[in-house]
Amino acid sequence: MLKTLGKVALLVLAVLVAGAWLVVLRLKNVPLPLLVGYGLLLLGLVAGLLWPGRFTRARVLLFAGAPAALATLGIYFAVVFYISDTPVLIGLAAATALASAGAARLRAARRPAGAAKAGHSRRAVLLAGAGVALGAVSVVSAGQVERRRAALAEQGRGAREEALRAPGARRRVTDGAVRVFPIHTGDTIVTYGQFYGGLDGWEGGSGYLRTLLDKAEIAVPVYAYLIDHPRHGTMMVDSGVNWEQAHDHDGYYNHNAMVSRLLSQRDEYRMAPGQDLRVQVARLGYDIKDITTVFLTHVHDDHAGGLRHLPQAKVVMDRHDWDGGVLYPHSFDLVKDNLDFPRFDSGTYSSFAQSKDYFGDGSVMLLPTPGHSPGHLCVALRMDGGSALFIGDTLYTLPHLASGQVRQMTIGGEDTARQLDAARRIQAHLRAEPAAAPLFAHDNTPYQAGVVSSVLSSGLPGADGFQRMRRHMDTVLTPSYELRPGHAPSYIPAAAGAGAGRVEFR
Ligand SMILES: [Zn+2]
Repeated sequence: MLKTLGKVALLVLAVLVAGAWLVVLRLKNVPLPLLVGYGLLLLGLVAGLLWPGRFTRARVLLFAGAPAALATLGIYFAVVFYISDTPVLIGLAAATALASAGAARLRAARRPAGAAKAGHSRRAVLLAGAGVALGAVSVVSAGQVERRRAALAEQGRGAREEALRAPGARRRVTDGAVRVFPIHTGDTIVTYGQFYGGLDGWEGGSGYLRTLLDKAEIAVPVYAYLIDHPRHGTMMVDSGVNWEQAHDHDGYYNHNAMVSRLLSQRDEYRMAPGQDLRVQVARLGYDIKDITTVFLTHVHDDHAGGLRHLPQAKVVMDRHDWDGGVLYPHSFDLVKDNLDFPRFDSGTYSSFAQSKDYFGDGSVMLLPTPGHSPGHLCVALRMDGGSALFIGDTLYTLPHLASGQVRQMTIGGEDTARQLDAARRIQAHLRAEPAAAPLFAHDNTPYQAGVVSSVLSSGLPGADGFQRMRRHMDTVLTPSYELRPGHAPSYIPAAAGAGAGRVEFR
C-alpha cells in the first residue's frame, strides 16, 4: 500500500515536471502533435519504470527510455540550445570521460595482475585520452563561439555607424520648449491572444493555456519616448529594447537566470540598425550621456533593455515592480544603484487617486496604475498646448481604450480588477482634459504610425497637434469609449511558413 502510494507520488511529480517542460517547449513554438507524442512517450517511460508488469525495467529503458532520451536531446538542440552551450556540453563530456577513466583506474588497481587488470588499465588510458581531447575541443570551441559573436557584434556596429551617418539628422533646438519624440526601438513578437484577446475567457490561467495552444503571433512596435525639458533636462519614458537583446539573444539572456532563457524566444525582438536607441537619440540631436532621468512605466524587459545604454541615468520606478522580482536582471545591472522609488504622496491628480508631482512644479506627474505589473505607473507631462499621458502597457493601443471590447490578457482576479480600474481612470482623465493625448508603448494602429509620429516629428505638438491626436481618437472611439465601426482588431494569419501574422482593423 505504502509502496503504491510512493509510486503514485513519483508519477505525479514526474507529470508535473514533464508538464512544465512541455509548456516551455510550446512557448518556443514546438508543434502541438509532436508535443503530444513526446509527452505520451515520457508518460509511458515513467509508468513503465514504476509498474513494469510483464516487461522488465531493462526493456522499458530500451524501448521507451532510449527514444525519450533521443527525443529530449533532439528537442533541446532544436529549441533551447544556445551556440554558447557548445563548449559547456563538450566540457561536460570531457569531465564524464575523465571521471570514468579514474573509475577504471581504481578498478584496475584492485584487481590482481592478469587479463582483467590489463583491460581496466587500457580502458582508463583510452578514456583519459578522450577526456583530454574533448577538453581541448571545448576550449577551442569556446574561442570559436566568442569569435563568431564578436564578428556579429562588429557587423552590427558597422550597420549602426552607417545608419548614424545617413542624411536627414535633426539638430537640437534650445528655445525653452518642452519636446517629446517617440523612439521606435524595433518590434516584439507576441501572441495575438495576449495582445488583443483579453476578453471572453482569455483571462488568467485558462487564457495563458489558450495562447499556448493558439500560438497566433503578431509583431508589434516597442516605443520609448525622449523628453527634452528646459528645466529638468533630457529624460525618457521607458527605454525600449537594446541591440544585443534583439541580435544576440543567446548571449544576452545567458546573463540572466536559466528561467529567463527558457521563457524568452530567440526571435522575440526585431530591430533595424536605424532603430537602435543610441542611433535615434543621436539623430534627434541629443547626446545619450545627457539623459539624466528615465521614468520606467514598469519592469518588463521590452521597456528596460535600453537601460544598458543609460548607466548615468536615475531610473524612477515603483518599488512594487522592483520588489516583485526582476526576471531579467541583466537589463538593470548598470543602473541598479541609481533607482529612485517615488512615494505617491502628492494627492489626487485628475481622475487618479494617487500621484507624485515628481519635480514639485506640476511638470511631470507619476500616476500609479497597477495591474499589468504590480507597480505599473503612467506619466503625465505638461507641454505647450496640452499634456501627454504616457500609458505604458496599461493599454497597449488606442482601440484598447474601448476596454469593454478590446483588452489585453491579464493575470486574472485582483490584477484584472486593478487593470480595469486603471483603464477607467485613464478614460476619465482623457474625458476631463480635452487637450490631453495618450501616448502608447505598443500601438500598432494608424494612430501611432500616422498621427503621433507626424505630430511629434519636431517634438512640439502645440495646441494644433494635441487637437489632431484627439480628433483621430474621436474617429476611433465614441465619447463613451466604444469602438466606432471599422476599428475592431482581427487576426490575419500569415501565409504558410511566413512567420508572424498581422492585425487588421475592420
Ligand atoms: Zn511592453
